[in-house]
Amino acid sequence: MNEEQRKQQAQIEQPDNFDRIKNTSSDDMIAKYFQTSYEPQSPDIKKARKRRKEDIQFHYDFSIPEDVATIGKGKKFLIRTYGCQMNEHDTEVMAGILTEMGYESTSSTDDADIILLNTCAIRENAENKVFGEIGHLKPLKLEKPDLIIGVCGCMSQEESVVNRILKKHQHIDLIFGTHNIHRLPQLVKEALFGKEMIVEVWSKEGDVIENLPKVRKGKIKAWVNIMYGCDKFCTYCIVPMTRGKERSRRPEDIIQEVRHLVAQGYQEVTLLGQNVNAYGKDFEDLEYGLGDLMNDIHKIDIPRVRFTTSHPRDFDDRLIEVLAQGGNLLDHIHLPVQSGSTEILKKMNRKYTREEYLELVHKIRKAMPNATLTTDIIVGFPNETEEQFEETMTLMEEVGFEAAYTYIYSPREGTPAARKKDDVPDEVKKQRLYRLNELVNKQSAESMKKYDGKTVKVLVEGESKKNPDVLAGYTERNKLVNFKGPKSSIGKIVEVKITEAKTWSLNGVMVESTVEVN
Ligand code: SAM
Ligand code: SF4
Repeated sequence: MNEEQRKQQAQIEQPDNFDRIKNTSSDDMIAKYFQTSYEPQSPDIKKARKRRKEDIQFHYDFSIPEDVATIGKGKKFLIRTYGCQMNEHDTEVMAGILTEMGYESTSSTDDADIILLNTCAIRENAENKVFGEIGHLKPLKLEKPDLIIGVCGCMSQEESVVNRILKKHQHIDLIFGTHNIHRLPQLVKEALFGKEMIVEVWSKEGDVIENLPKVRKGKIKAWVNIMYGCDKFCTYCIVPMTRGKERSRRPEDIIQEVRHLVAQGYQEVTLLGQNVNAYGKDFEDLEYGLGDLMNDIHKIDIPRVRFTTSHPRDFDDRLIEVLAQGGNLLDHIHLPVQSGSTEILKKMNRKYTREEYLELVHKIRKAMPNATLTTDIIVGFPNETEEQFEETMTLMEEVGFEAAYTYIYSPREGTPAARKKDDVPDEVKKQRLYRLNELVNKQSAESMKKYDGKTVKVLVEGESKKNPDVLAGYTERNKLVNFKGPKSSIGKIVEVKITEAKTWSLNGVMVESTVEVN
């Protein structure tokens, strides 16, 4: 421990920290919090719809302030991530910032000096898991009062969640939102030296902060954010409130990031956004969409490029034309449909009909005959009838989706759908999910069978979780393949002959000649 850290540690007075937890009434805390750092704004669909047209600011000047540049020396951090790839990638950014502050990562809560819970608000059970974890961490905080526990991510953008933490979980030191990640150095400092819970959740819709450091999870595949936020306002979804308005990164910044990843040896990038094909719609000085961006990335020497998640409404002809070039642009398209019933789609505010979705699928298949299509489906939307659910089942078959993420509708406070009366019993919703999943499994197994005996290209990611003697990786169409092969093939694209097709994965043997064996 250096002199500076000793000084800093001396300033963290344990009794105060405990006093805060034991003596402050939650009403005091809430009053303070509303006066100071938090603009009380629950997810409010009406306010959120009236988004201001003011310019999105781009910031290129991120740096770690000098006074916190070594604050983490000799200390460790742990970030638990819940939810989607966007959160996974935000975790990589937070890990990057903490690493630049001198912290090292750990996977053990006992060793950690900072624990951050990067949360997901998309469904109720995701939130319940986080509250469970918050409860589990309380004894550790009482044992180690210097430990900083923070809650960030989508849940912290919800006023009800912040209130619940303030009232019931005063062992939490820090709450910050999805628009405040770049403020982590200052927030950690305030949490270390302050005597109150730090709450900084900006309801403003967010700028674009470039040049944030990142510690990526692996060295083979990388996420690249191309845009943030969502303006679609599907009636069931909390994301437009937790992630702010749609705002795109400048193409040159994205291309530079991809080039940098190539230089580091990455084999695959996935372009990320809640609604990637709305990319560029917010540019006022540029006619440039996802198709143009993909076309430019197509020319970069990276073997594999994916993108997620697409909204059917914004999937335009230019994008299809560019994707049809193939090469490093992979023909696996994840195209969430949500429901097969036009009436339900209307109630969901998806802005397309069943027929329009099928027409889009037809166009995609015409341009890319071998494309794999996967989707997201919600069952049990308020008042969904048996016939409407059946339309989802028939759409699933008609499109021939090879996989689907399926969910039971979960009411989210502040969204229009949550205010609807719902006459569908939970048991019926569960049965519908079960029936849908049976169909998804059947279609997945059928799609896998087509690969039996074929040779596929696999990007080898590492050892299989179940058996270290087996390697695992993904095909171009995102099929998981397990096979025996030399460890030296990890990080490379190799050819594997498929010997067995299962429901969700393929087994095979490597075609030796394609790999350099050291
Ligand atoms: N932007 C993407 C789109 O338009 O489909 C999806 C992003 S969302 C993070 C991922 C999926 O979560 C959605 O496609 C939807 O199926 C599901 N989802 C969102 N809100 C939900 C809710 N309230 N209940 C159940 N599932 C939900
Ligand atoms: Fe949510 Fe996706 Fe709809 Fe946006 S487009 S509101 S992220 S489901």
